[in-house]
Amino acid sequence: MKIKFWGVRGSIPTPGKNFSKFGGNTSCVELSVNNRSIIFDMGSGLVNLGNHIVKNNIKRFDILLSHFHYDHTCGLPFFKPAFNKDFKFTIRSGIEKTRSKTLEVLKKQISSPSFPITVNEFSANIKYCDFKIGRDFYIGKLKVKTILLNHPNGAVGYRVQYGKKAVCYITDHEHDLKKKDKNLQNFLKNADALIYDSTYDDKNFINYIGWGHSTWQEATRLANECNIKKLFIFHHNPDNNDRKMANIETACKKMSNNFLVAKEGMSININ
Ligand SMILES: [Zn+2]
Ligand SMILES: [Zn+2]
Repeated sequence: MKIKFWGVRGSIPTPGKNFSKFGGNTSCVELSVNNRSIIFDMGSGLVNLGNHIVKNNIKRFDILLSHFHYDHTCGLPFFKPAFNKDFKFTIRSGIEKTRSKTLEVLKKQISSPSFPITVNEFSANIKYCDFKIGRDFYIGKLKVKTILLNHPNGAVGYRVQYGKKAVCYITDHEHDLKKKDKNLQNFLKNADALIYDSTYDDKNFINYIGWGHSTWQEATRLANECNIKKLFIFHHNPDNNDRKMANIETACKKMSNNFLVAKEGMSININ
């Protein structure tokens, strides 16, 4: 299994030289395994991934959405494979009581007056799929487990397993200060990699209760509690420039060599 980060920022893209080291594109992570790519989220990082897919003629990929906030979907209308009839892929999201199905939500997001084209302009063969959160499914030989996260309008966490290897993608999610989430701990247990929402830190978290995000310190606690082999601090706060991110990276390194801060362009083999 190989993880590549195409977008690591939360909330809004952060271009500019003060963000160039860790990266300014929003959530998009590629997991390659067994000649297939799973793409977590379609943030602005999806644009560069799309160009890579076209250039290398990668044909087997599927997109798993955590939720529909714009920082996780804004890349789709600029995803070149969507405008090429030679490509065939799926976009999946979990059914939520509070909203309509995958295709219906994307139709609304990509439409007038917010956007000049509609999803009807996509010439690729795209299947829009909805799944029940909590129920497992398969993409080829990959087993996908899902869990409901604590976020405004809901979000889905993923655990993708192939053979004995497992990678978890948990964003956007707010932890509970008062009690441990046993359900989430069981979900993450013994994973080879965890990519986790680290928007805040323990000091400022209290000011953002209800905003639906977690802290990098909580990420390290979870990683220890759940016996995670490699932790990736992810969904960086748009207020955190490279200097602030480097401080978080140093603090993480002091705790463990297996606590990494995700950077745009970073590629890691999970063996
Ligand atoms: Zn987000
Ligand atoms: Zn969100």
